[in-house]
This record gives sequence, structure tokens and C-alpha cells, in this order.
Amino acid sequence: MAWSQKRRQMGQTIAFVPTMGYFHEGHLELMREGRRVADTVAASIFVNPTQFGPTEDFDAYPRDLDRDLKIAQGAGADAIFTPDRKDLYPDGYDTFIHAEKLPHHLCGLSRPGHFQGVLTIVAKLFHIVRPHTAIFGQKDYQQLAIIRQMVKDLNFDIRIIGFPTVREKDGLAMSSRNVRLSPSQRISARCLYQSLIKAKEAVANGETDPKKIIASTGTLIRSHPDTEIDYIKLCDTDTLDDVIVINRSVLMALAVKVGNTRLIDNMILSQ
Ligand code: AMP
Repeated sequence: MAWSQKRRQMGQTIAFVPTMGYFHEGHLELMREGRRVADTVAASIFVNPTQFGPTEDFDAYPRDLDRDLKIAQGAGADAIFTPDRKDLYPDGYDTFIHAEKLPHHLCGLSRPGHFQGVLTIVAKLFHIVRPHTAIFGQKDYQQLAIIRQMVKDLNFDIRIIGFPTVREKDGLAMSSRNVRLSPSQRISARCLYQSLIKAKEAVANGETDPKKIIASTGTLIRSHPDTEIDYIKLCDTDTLDDVIVINRSVLMALAVKVGNTRLIDNMILSQ
């Protein structure tokens, strides 16, 4: 990309924030972090078809490019890259990046092929934008872990920063998909954060049995109308393997459908 080449020739460092758009404060915080860690910030907006399954919400994914361009400038993005599907996946496109182990957990199980799509688009965007640093949200913990692994395995000379989850006042993790919740579903959606906080307290108070936490979390979530649990997992923070006993900091990760909207959240539970 000519923009990156020019910035690099000027000796500037580039931070990059890849997104699917429909910006909220979470996205904007990643861009502000970009300003703190680099001389210039590029973001991309691309709803990547290869990371959506055939029955998922690619067509229904919220989009508002005009609004996004305005608010991203306000958050300090210097360039917004909005490629076309045909530019990134022309006819005859045939190459995908596949990770062996990490996708066999959490969202990878209910969304087969999702992380292959994510890795492929992120690698392509890295080659086009040529950033020094790229910033991703910890809300998508598994995505961040898989991208870190790809960057290491494929020798990308890019520093990856994981940024803490930005939340609404009542704790709900911000997500572009939250706009699709009805007012009553929006109330039910609080159960994800409530479950994580409750589990965090239980572990801090000495609970070591993941089964007990998973059971009480299931009860709490099911007590909220219109919820359907995809998974409740306590797992190793590196390998994402299930933990049998909580004897160190563990990742608790949740995926819950509220109405038709699939929400995810996670938290590190420490003893
Ligand atoms: P998306 O547009 O949903 O693909 O997200 C683009 C980037 O923003 C990803 O790195 C996400 O992890 C990150 N992100 C999304 N929601 C949040 C949030 N609530 N807090 C922090 N980062 C987020």
C-alpha cells in the first residue's frame, strides 16, 4: 500500500487495527492505543466472508461506513483501508492459512473454518498494510492467541498487542452485534459478565473445581430468558486445553446465544 510505503520512508512507525467495522468504543480504544505506541495509525474495515460459516450472519452483519470513517478520524486513525471483496479474494483465489491445534477449542468447535478465515485475512492485511505493531482485543481471546502463534510461526516482523475488553456500564462487552439485541435480550445479555465475575470471586475464595463453576454458571445463564449456551469453558491460558483442577490462573470463556445473537466474553480467573 502506497500510504504505508510513504510512512516507512519517512521513518514513521505504523500501528494497525484490523476490524469488521460498525465501530464502538472498543474499536476506538484500539486506535487510541495505536496512537500511543506508534507514529501513525491505520485501521481496516472489511467484513471478511471467509470467516463466516454458511449459516452465519455475514449478510446481516451491521455496516455503516460513513459513520465509521468519521468516528475513526476522531479517535486518531490516519488511514482507513476499506478493501473490496474482489480485491482480496479475486476469482480463482486458492490459498488459506490453517492452524493445527488452537482452533480445536472454544469458538473453533462451533465455527468450523472460522479461524482459517481469520488467519488468512489477517496475514493478507499484514502484507498489504505492513505495520510495525498490530492491536487486537482480548475480548476475542482465542483469535488473539491464534494470531500471536501465526506471527511467531510464520516469522512476521510485527509486534502484537492484546488490548483489554472495553465494556458497557453494566459490564456487557462491547460488540458490533449488540445492536441486534432487543431491549429484553439486552438485559439477558448481562448474564455473561455476571457469570464471569461470580466465577472470579469463587476462584479467589478458594474454589478449585471447574465442574462446579461450570454448573453454577450454566444455572445462572439459563435463568435469563432467551439464552442458549454454546460453551462454558475453563481452560489453560496458553494451550486452551480444559483444566481439570484450578491450581493456577485460568481462562474462563463463554459463548451464549441471546435470541439470535451469539455473544462471547472471557476473563482470567486467579487464585
Ligand atoms: P471486530 O470488528 O469485531 O472484528 O473487532 C475488531 C477488533 O476489535 C478485534 O481485535 C476485536 O478483538 C476488537 N474488539 C472488539 N470488541 C472489543 C471490545 N469490547 N473491547 C476491546 N476490543 C474489542
